[in-house]
Amino acid sequence: MNVLVTGGAGYIGSHALVALIEANYDVVVLDNLINGSAEAVMRVEKITQRKIPFYEGDIRDSNFLNSIFKNHDIDVVVHFAGLKSVGNSVKNPIEYFDFNVNGTISLVKGMELAGIYRLVFSSSATVYGDSSIMPLHEDLPTGEPKNPYGRSKLIIEQMLQDLAKSNSRWSIGLLRYFNPVGAHESGLIGESPQGTPNNLLPYVAQVAVRRLPKLAIFGNDYDTIDGTGIRDYIHVMDLVEGHVKAIKKLEKSGGLKIWNLGTGKGYSVLEMVDAFESVSGRNIPYYFQHRREGDVAVCWADVSLAEIELGWRAKRDLLDMVGDTWRWQIQNPEGYR
Ligand code: NAD
Ligand code: UDP
Repeated sequence: MNVLVTGGAGYIGSHALVALIEANYDVVVLDNLINGSAEAVMRVEKITQRKIPFYEGDIRDSNFLNSIFKNHDIDVVVHFAGLKSVGNSVKNPIEYFDFNVNGTISLVKGMELAGIYRLVFSSSATVYGDSSIMPLHEDLPTGEPKNPYGRSKLIIEQMLQDLAKSNSRWSIGLLRYFNPVGAHESGLIGESPQGTPNNLLPYVAQVAVRRLPKLAIFGNDYDTIDGTGIRDYIHVMDLVEGHVKAIKKLEKSGGLKIWNLGTGKGYSVLEMVDAFESVSGRNIPYYFQHRREGDVAVCWADVSLAEIELGWRAKRDLLDMVGDTWRWQIQNPEGYR
């Protein structure tokens, strides 16, 4: 089975390559390297001892896509390619709709032309909006995303739902990620943000190696155990193993399915900082700042559907998430650069 991985040179995509190869899939990577790194793919080759066909180019370029589909007999596409910074999406909304929404339109058109109808899409818990019901279950209505990034994910979800309804040949999995963190246990691949990280754990890791002086904690007045925000952090290897299970499920069933990928357990910002300090043995200086606009107080997943339908459950715990992040950071203080 041949899997095309769009965005395979990025954080989650590169880890997915490892999981797919371990599950005996043949992979082909497409990435325009706007945020990814060819080095990540080379490191995956080192981990897996496999040569990976890599195509540098853009999913919005239909000729480029068609040439890949001609060269390889692709059975399924796992679609990670897109832009993901909430802050940048507020500053450059059109760019986000172009990369994410237009990119997906171009991809599915290319797939239809090539007769490929199996797709796994990287969605996000952000599509639930500001729900007062926790944990979040797939049956809950989607909410009103607070920024163009979230809106682009919701638009793509709705578009893919219409597509699956229009033609029964389509078999589509929408995977709603909670908070992916961690790195492959080898420490060879991990998250390598460009510029100052936006997400909590990469920021903490850079404070630990003294690339950044201090962590700003956004809000200590939430109605939570210690006043800081609670999220469902999931180890990236657990997350990508969920993709392998989703592909296997889509091989046997058609239509469109939605699955949450989280652990079902939430941790506060201060709990994450404490765990990082004890694993790394480094002090993490921090201070409290006002709440970040658009943040919810708590967010965690109901993971029962993925467990029942995919036979998948996250296996790695908080110490694995933090320990693997730390190993990656200490071995690669500058990321891939
Ligand atoms: P990432 O930026 O590391 O990876 C995305 C990859 O896509 C990059 O390598 C980038 O170069 C490539 N890319 C972007 N636009 C492209 C285009 N038009 N053509 C070809 N390649 C393109 O991000 P990630 O963290 O690995 O996220 C992967 C996917 O998961 C994204 O769609 C993201 O929105 C989604 N997601 C991520 C998170 C998270 O916290 N990391 C949470 C929820 C959903
Ligand atoms: N957070 C923080 N300081 C930072 C980055 C994040 O206090 O520099 C908090 C944020 O307010 C949220 C949690 O950490 O409560 C996770 O944020 P992240 O950006 O990693 O993920 P999100 O859930 O926003 O997608």
